[in-house]
Amino acid sequence: MGATDPRRSIPSVDRLLERPWCRDLIAAHGQSWITGRLRAVLDEMRAGRRQVPDTDEGFAASVRTEVAHASSPSLRRVVNATGVVLHTNLGRAPLAAEARRAMAAAAGYGNVEFDLRTGERGSRYHHCVELVRELTGAEDAVVVNNNAGAVALALTAFAAGRGVAVSHGELVEIGGGFRIPEVVEAAGARLVTVGTTNRTRRADYRRATERGDVAAILKVHRSNFSMSGFTEEAELAELVELGAAHGVPVIHDLGSGLLVDSAALGLPYEPTPAESIAAGVDLVAFSGDKLLGGAQAGVLAGTAAGVARAKSHPLCRALRSDKVTLAGLEATLSLYRDPERARERIPALRMIGTAGRRLERRADAVLAAVGRRGAGLRRALRAEVVAADSLVGGGAFPDARIPTAAISLGAGERAEEWLARLRAHDPPVIARRRRGRLLLDLRTIAPEEDAVVAAALASLAASVP
Ligand SMILES: *Cc1c(COP(=O)(O)O)cnc(C)c1O
Repeated sequence: MGATDPRRSIPSVDRLLERPWCRDLIAAHGQSWITGRLRAVLDEMRAGRRQVPDTDEGFAASVRTEVAHASSPSLRRVVNATGVVLHTNLGRAPLAAEARRAMAAAAGYGNVEFDLRTGERGSRYHHCVELVRELTGAEDAVVVNNNAGAVALALTAFAAGRGVAVSHGELVEIGGGFRIPEVVEAAGARLVTVGTTNRTRRADYRRATERGDVAAILKVHRSNFSMSGFTEEAELAELVELGAAHGVPVIHDLGSGLLVDSAALGLPYEPTPAESIAAGVDLVAFSGDKLLGGAQAGVLAGTAAGVARAKSHPLCRALRSDKVTLAGLEATLSLYRDPERARERIPALRMIGTAGRRLERRADAVLAAVGRRGAGLRRALRAEVVAADSLVGGGAFPDARIPTAAISLGAGERAEEWLARLRAHDPPVIARRRRGRLLLDLRTIAPEEDAVVAAALASLAASVP
């Protein structure tokens, strides 16, 4: 270290701890944690990885930046401008205001396992059941942590140590790591594949059940891909009939949990849990946070005997959902008592159903707001409103393209840098690339977030040379 090395002027931790600005930080974050942050900052300065400021304000700014960075929560709210409604990486379904309020209220004490009428111990598995029964026609239901858990629980309770018949064409992988053959194996059951990839008939299932040791028939909804051409699959009702004849329960892994008519959302046909129940399956499993639009949960609905068997298995306790989730799911489900209200109040359904013209008007208004913040800002981004396609996401409706309006930015070579700048905004704005441009799809941006998007775009534009 030479005589002119600025590192000679680095103060000690003890000296910084006495500065008034440091006392403010200690009041907010505690002495020992702030001491640790100070050490980290000074160590980086000594190692030459961080510039040494030449004033006390400079040190204060360095430490404040470090503290702000280290104390910001890991899980943060973001603006989803990707146009993928059920974006798995961005938390799938955004919850309705009714659900958010119910979840905040449930965060304190609640009658989770307490019967308010009798004052005695109640059951956590009691909540949401009446609503699921109403909405699906099932005799009974149990809510667990997620749909993967619901399927694993059903298979474990019914088929551990025995065979599960599944069509070759339904040995699917959904999302990260949910692969039917592996789930069957994890349930301690043996996979008995029937039929072929493109064609599986009732007779294929019959041969498997007649060979014996098939403890359950599992039908899996091909959520995230479609098959066309010469294909054939057995109807649920046929499997139910076959199962009844051989005393083999039918379990239906439905995935999405859509509780309204898909045509009312402008989407192609998608089966509902009520249809599975009407077809007579023993259990149907579906997600709470896909097209149902609620909190992360898995619902197993079906016959009283089927649900009782699942509930009495020890795995059910390991998969139980917490009070906040149950409150969010209950509030969401209760919106479905009026399907029209569900489509208006549940954000995922509302987003899917919003007309492109309305999104175009909002996109125009956001760009106009950017223009008002400074002449030339909009030009710096080479911003325009374009037509694009939104996706349902969440592994549902893989082929559906929903016409939408997006703000398109001419980022050219700097697309990665601009995406990163939008992510660095508070709150982060997540956009997507289309060739050399960035797209911000209005469909997945809540109208009350338009101002945030305008601010993020204005600050991006201000940073563009
Ligand atoms: C999404 C899906 C699952 C997994 O559901 P999670 O809620 O992610 O656990 C299982 N099966 C099917 C058919 C699905 O679509």
